[in-house]
Order: sequence, then structure tokens, then C-alpha cells
Amino acid sequence: MLIQCAKCGRKIEKQQSYESQGSLFCEDCYMDILSPPKACDPWAVHSAQTFLKGKDKLSTLTPLQLSIVNYIKKKEGATLEEMIENLSLTEEELRREFAVLRHMEILRGTKKEGKVVYIFYPS
Ligand SMILES: [Zn+2]
Repeated sequence: MLIQCAKCGRKIEKQQSYESQGSLFCEDCYMDILSPPKACDPWAVHSAQTFLKGKDKLSTLTPLQLSIVNYIKKKEGATLEEMIENLSLTEEELRREFAVLRHMEILRGTKKEGKVVYIFYPS
């Protein structure tokens, strides 16, 4: 007797299927369910965001991150080029800090007149 895998839809022999939470799966899908691939660690991200919720968010920043945030606050949005010039940072440094600040939901990029402008989250 053939059954259909509940995940990928492949037809498989019932004897070769695996049961999990009331559904039948092929071997591949069953292995996936048992040990899902870890792309990143969603729990770490989640707890970091929960921990950082509220006004204390900015107090956890490094002086470098703070100077970027303050500059953007003052200018109400700034491009990468502008900050490289005015904060005397390299593009690499800025991109690295932005990755962190974006992750913390403090800054985000938006498009303005064809340029990427960094602004406060979620303004
Ligand atoms: Zn399957």
C-alpha cells in the first residue's frame, strides 16, 4: 500500500514510512523533523531582542555605535558616504556596525532618491 509523505508529498510504501505527531513521512522528511537544519540560532536572536526592548537599548551600545546613532539622529537619516566622510570611519567599519544596529532594531536602511539612507527604527 502506498501512502503520501505529509511533508514532501512523495509516494512511499507504508512499511517504509515514519510516523510523527499523527502524520506519515518519508525517511528524508522524518530525519528533517527530528533534526531540523540550523541556519542560525533563532532563540539567541529572540532573547537578545526581548532583553533589549525598551529604553535601555541604547545604553548597551559601544561608543562607536553611539556616535553613528547620534549622527543619524542629528541628521534625521544619513548615507554611508556621508558618514564615512564625517565620522572618519571606513566603509567596512560602518557596515559591520550597521549589521549589529540593524539586528538590535535600532537602525534600518531605506531608499531615498535612489540612495540608501540609514534612519532610526522604526521612524
Ligand atoms: Zn517526504
